[in-house]
Amino acid sequence: MKILLLGKNGQVGWELQRALAVLGEVIALDRHTSQTAYGELSGDLSSPDSLRDTIRRLQPQVIVNAGAYTAVDKAETEQELAHRVNALASQAMAEEALRLDALLIHYSTDYVFDGTGTTAWKETDAVSPVNHYGTTKLEGERLIAASGCKHLIFRTSWVYASRGNNFAKTMLRLARERTTLNVIADQIGAPTGAELLADVTAVALQQTLKQPELGGIYHLAPAGEVSWHAYAQYVIDVARAQGETLAVETVAPIGTVDYPTPARRPLNSRLNTEKLREAFSLHLPNWQSGVTRMLMEVLNK
Ligand code: NDP
Repeated sequence: MKILLLGKNGQVGWELQRALAVLGEVIALDRHTSQTAYGELSGDLSSPDSLRDTIRRLQPQVIVNAGAYTAVDKAETEQELAHRVNALASQAMAEEALRLDALLIHYSTDYVFDGTGTTAWKETDAVSPVNHYGTTKLEGERLIAASGCKHLIFRTSWVYASRGNNFAKTMLRLARERTTLNVIADQIGAPTGAELLADVTAVALQQTLKQPELGGIYHLAPAGEVSWHAYAQYVIDVARAQGETLAVETVAPIGTVDYPTPARRPLNSRLNTEKLREAFSLHLPNWQSGVTRMLMEVLNK
């Protein structure tokens, strides 16, 4: 089986390189043109035409798109680029997947919802993004579904990985430097490890190839919920328990209104994962287990 992986160096893309490797031949591309066994191929999502050309030449059975314009605040000003990468590239992939009868796997976000209420969002709930990033991600979802191609779309939240920067690493750095940290306490969600996303993708990919009726949109996040504030406190507690010397004395809860950003953030990022767990017979671990694992790697324990 030939699998085209786009966005190979992102948090999720990196983990997918590992998780997909046992399923078939993975042709993994980043935004640059790469020399591959199939010649020079472009993985630039800002150029949907180059992407079409890559897919036509490669003829993969599966396309996994881990690439996206993910700079949520910058998307408010770079609207056209965010739209091209998150919406038009998804459309190009979907249309080419349909021509090949290939399966397209794509990732989206809880930011398609407006963040009201305290109930975990279901796949069938009404969408209403509060920022431009969410709007472009929603459009990507809709273009994929409208194309009629076989697809899996995983909406997830608060993604982290041990590679690259993430919230937990930032909190660790600040906790070494400062005595007080102010952290938002009224946004609730579940930190989702790129490892979990990649592993679930591999399982769902295999099952969906056998049973195409499993295709569709799924919410994917670990079990449990937490605020950014309690997440920061957890990171600090684990680090201290591992013997880290930290300067921080107070982790103060603040409101979203106290931390203005160019893009609005939804308060309620909870995702209901029942559909995913039932469809693929999966158990989703609690968020603490993945975060602890990542911290052990980061702290070199
Ligand atoms: P990252 O930002 O870590 O990775 C995104 C990747 O996309 C990067 O490797 C980036 O390349 C690549 N990319 C950006 N623009 C282009 C382009 N024009 N052409 C090719 N590649 C491009 O994101 P994640 O791994 O965290 O996100 C994976 C998916 O999950 C995305 O669909 C995202 O929307 C979704 N998601 C992420 C959340 C999060 O908290 N991060 C939350 C919810 C959903 P480069 O490194 O060169 O910039």
